[in-house]
This record gives sequence, structure tokens and C-alpha cells, in this order.
Amino acid sequence: MKSHYKAGYVAIVGEPNVGKSTLLNALLEQKISIVTSKPQTTRQRVLGILSREDVQIVFLDTPGLLKPQYLLHQEMVKSAESALAEADVVLVMTQPSQGTELPIEVRERILPLYKSKPVLLIINKADKVNKADLLPMIALFAKPDQFKEIIPVSALRHDNLDAIVQSLIHYLPEHEAFYPPDIVSESPERFFVAEFIREQLFEKFSEEIPYSTAVEIRDFKERETGKTLISADIFVERDSQKGIIIGKKGETLKKVGTSARIQIEEFLQRDVYLELHVKVHEKWRESETMLRQLGYHSKG
Ligand code: GDP
Ligand code: MG
Repeated sequence: MKSHYKAGYVAIVGEPNVGKSTLLNALLEQKISIVTSKPQTTRQRVLGILSREDVQIVFLDTPGLLKPQYLLHQEMVKSAESALAEADVVLVMTQPSQGTELPIEVRERILPLYKSKPVLLIINKADKVNKADLLPMIALFAKPDQFKEIIPVSALRHDNLDAIVQSLIHYLPEHEAFYPPDIVSESPERFFVAEFIREQLFEKFSEEIPYSTAVEIRDFKERETGKTLISADIFVERDSQKGIIIGKKGETLKKVGTSARIQIEEFLQRDVYLELHVKVHEKWRESETMLRQLGYHSKG
């Protein structure tokens, strides 16, 4: 075993839409967490593994910390909380437009952590403001016994991301690797395929629709030759939503399918035949059975 090898878990938490998933993808140089311009797209924690010569960092991307409105939200918050509990180091993410006060949902969850583990503040979207405006902001966040470090970055432009990695290496414990060096995540391919479909629903529909959808992979058949066959159900809560997603003569659904397929093929590195079905399941977001079936039930 190598000496001084470091490894550990790092939770990325913060309000919805500050750029947590963008950061994870940028750090791993691979898209494993879906990114959209709408808040609350990440519903479960997504684990991403960065392996280097001297360190293995297991990142836990989490759903944003928010006030729960549905049973689904409660499960989302729970999964963020369990990531916080497991983490060796916590990255709290904010963005300049949020000002210098973290929202209460974030503050109340990280407060108890300052004493037990290193908490670093990442100010993302630094590309949106002048450098001169960042410094006073950093100064206001700097309070004794809170953040070990405050790091401004642009996840989108890959600016200053190495500063995050360097700090993490500093704070992570000496430990052997948790995973083989060649894997980036432990979630099955099915999970990512469903996520890429969900991402297109967030891209192409507005208001309540994307939030009312869930995706379940029915069939995932790899064939010796030819395309991988994937069949997925898109659940919505109402008939009217089903109509909107399908569109006139199925045109809209077809567009969703095409864009999702391109992403999926890129991720799986093989040709895919993608079949989508839209199904109505009233109030699935309130149904324990459905949340369990869709994998939104946090363990424990
Ligand atoms: P999450 O909800 O915290 O996971 O946020 P996402 O990663 O889904 O990103 C939310 C939105 O912010 C997307 O439209 C991203 O493209 C955008 N975004 C993320 N990072 C940056 C950044 O560094 N600069 C700018 N300008 N936009 C960003
Ligand atoms: Mg996210």
C-alpha cells in the first residue's frame, strides 16, 4: 500500500441552481450529473469519483437544500442530509447574486458541522462579477471558526477548480482508495440513462411539468450486434400533462427522445434505440410506493 495516499468523501451542498452539478461534472471532466437552468433537477445524490496518483475524492452531489413541499422533497432533503453526515469534508456552494448571507435552509444544516469537519465555501459563477467585487464578498463570509477556506470559482469555465482539489487534498484523511481507479460512479448505467431523459424534460417543458415527471427504465437490452435497446416510462401526474409531453402527432415526445438519445449514446459510447412511453400516475410525488419504485427513497 502506498503511504500518504489520501481518500475520502466530499459532500457538495447549497441552494438549488448555484451550480453544484456543473462543478461535479467539471471536476470529473465527464458529465455524470444533470445540469439545467431550472432549480431542483437533482433529486438523488449522485456520487462521482475523482482518482489521481495521490488521492481519491468521492464527491456526493446533492439535491439543493430547500423547504420541502412534497414527500419527494422530503426525500431529497434527507438524501442531502445523509451525504453531509457521511462526508469527511463539506463544500458549501453559493453564487454572488445570493449576497453574503446563506439561506436559512443551508445555514441551519451546516452550523453543527463546523465543529466536527472541515467546511469550505465555494463562491461559484465568479465569471458573472468583477474580480473587484468578489474580494469584499469573501471578506464578509470570512468569520472565525466557520469556513476553513473560501474559494471563488467558475464551474462553467473551469476556473480555479484546481484550488478546490488542492484544498481537499489538504483536508482529506490518509486512507486507501475506496474504489478502483477507473470508475467514475457507482450508480448503474440505467440510472444515468433515466437522468438524461429527465434532463430533456427539464429542458423542453416549463412550469410544473418537469417537476411532475419521473422516468423509469423498463428495458435495457444490450445486443451482440446493433443498437442497445432502451425502453423507458415517463410518469406524469395528469392527463393534460401527458398530452403536452406527447404533443401533436407525437412530435414533442420525439424531440425529447432524440435529444436524450444523443446524450445517452455519448455517455454509453454506443448506439442506442430509445423508446419512450408516457404514463399518468396521479400524485406520484406523494406516493411512498412510487417514490420507492423510482429509487427516490433514501436508505435508512
Ligand atoms: P445545481 O442545481 O446547484 O446542481 O446547479 P446546476 O449545476 O444544475 O446549474 C444551474 C445553472 O447554473 C445552469 O444553467 C448552469 O449552466 C449555470 N452555472 C453553473 N455554474 C456556472 C458558472 O460557473 N457560471 C455561470 N455563469 N453559470 C453557471
Ligand atoms: Mg444539481
